[in-house]
Amino acid sequence: MIHPLIREIRALPPESQELTVRGWVRTKRELKNLVFVEVSDGSCFGGIQCTFDRTGRWGEETEKALSAISTGVSVEITGKLVPSPAAGQEAELAAAAITIIGDAPADQYPLQKKRHSLEFLREIAHLRARTNTFGAVARVRSRLAFAVHEFFQSRGFQYIHTPIITASDAEGAGAMFQVTTLDLEALAKSGKPPDYGKDFFGKRSGLTVSGQLEAETYALALSRVYTFGPTFRAENSNTTRHLAEFWMIEPEMAFARLEDNMVLAEDFLKFLLSTALRDNAEDIAFFNAHIEKDLSGVLRSVVDTPFVRMTYTDAVTELEKNAQSFEFRPYWGCDLQSEHEKFLTENVAQGPVIVTDYPREIKAFYMKMNDDRKTVRAMDVLVPRLGEIIGGSEREENLSALEERIRALGMNLEDYSWYLDLRRYGSAPHAGFGLGFERLIQYVTGMANIRDVIPYPRAVGQVNF
Ligand code: ATP
Ligand code: MN
Repeated sequence: MIHPLIREIRALPPESQELTVRGWVRTKRELKNLVFVEVSDGSCFGGIQCTFDRTGRWGEETEKALSAISTGVSVEITGKLVPSPAAGQEAELAAAAITIIGDAPADQYPLQKKRHSLEFLREIAHLRARTNTFGAVARVRSRLAFAVHEFFQSRGFQYIHTPIITASDAEGAGAMFQVTTLDLEALAKSGKPPDYGKDFFGKRSGLTVSGQLEAETYALALSRVYTFGPTFRAENSNTTRHLAEFWMIEPEMAFARLEDNMVLAEDFLKFLLSTALRDNAEDIAFFNAHIEKDLSGVLRSVVDTPFVRMTYTDAVTELEKNAQSFEFRPYWGCDLQSEHEKFLTENVAQGPVIVTDYPREIKAFYMKMNDDRKTVRAMDVLVPRLGEIIGGSEREENLSALEERIRALGMNLEDYSWYLDLRRYGSAPHAGFGLGFERLIQYVTGMANIRDVIPYPRAVGQVNF
């Protein structure tokens, strides 16, 4: 039998039952005849207090172990679960025996009791999951990853595994990492250009920047689908919102329009936020106290309030009225900068806002053209602190309109023949969006830097562990 976790022990009524706690020592305090050892195992935010009473019977072994333990040591402690006299905890362990399982010499162990900076912890990413902050981030990530599946599965969406290596580049979604088995050194010496016909796949290929185009093919067969997998972009930008490797969730619905897409995105975000508030209450309370002021209140109000919706054109009008507040002057046709997105969410909407109907020039080729022939049925969901968290659209389902757009952008029709087949055979209106999972976790936890919401961040110049 696997041993009980502290989260399970904490849920038990304290009725003097014998138990063994296994985990890592957080703190040790002494008070007269008592020694308090706080042990945590990462299964929940809090640990369990194990109280040793010197007036009771205990052997030399226990005394030796107690004097040897320090933060980070792994231990096994046996005792009885009893009601705790201390505030803030139901139960504690009236401990009888302790065994040290693994040492963590206090003069060497990098994680001491004091508060460490997030920058320092990034350098010891292999140990940072043992801190309150990163333990909480990991639990929220885990719970919300599962919630993604719960949400879609309960609404008839099928989970599709789109390829990670691909030769299609989802046009413009982001710069691709190349995948090759060509001998680059030999090639450099030869001075000849690479012959991709001789490469592993027989043509130039890379890591996926989005599973959308492939997901569309399944939506036009299974009606409602979603992907949830790793996504790669060779983003050469050093921001707190971009990673080179991140996880993306991409639902796609057949017989659906932009309106349905907006409803789905809003329901989805609200479902995820309320799941975290309910099932990660202690973790969120910690973020609220130490990371982002009033986080819980904000999340609660986002769940309870309808999202503001506005067209790109109206958004730009709002921005132009406040042109003096920006470094980049806003004008109709401009790509919204993060300062613009910040202004719209924090000053105009005071919460999430869904911006729709962007100029076609700044959006991808597959988005459905509006009757004005200037704007497309795109939608971005923007949130305070982060800006864009979701990007999506209704897709162009009309064959000639899509062909015209591909030609106009100087792209090769041949490369998209399989994608165009969806419009040749049984075409239907359809829509979908992409949510960056790490941006969601940033939003829910209040963590400022995206590098701190994924176990091992990959970004320019950063690939350790
Ligand atoms: P941004 O403008 O913020 O760079 P984007 O418009 O390039 O994002 P999309 O192609 O619309 O992003 O991708 C869908 C979603 O994936 C975004 O809304 C965002 O949540 C997430 N995302 C995009 N790029 C990254 C990245 N480099 N790291 C983490 N998440 C990302
Ligand atoms: Mn986008």
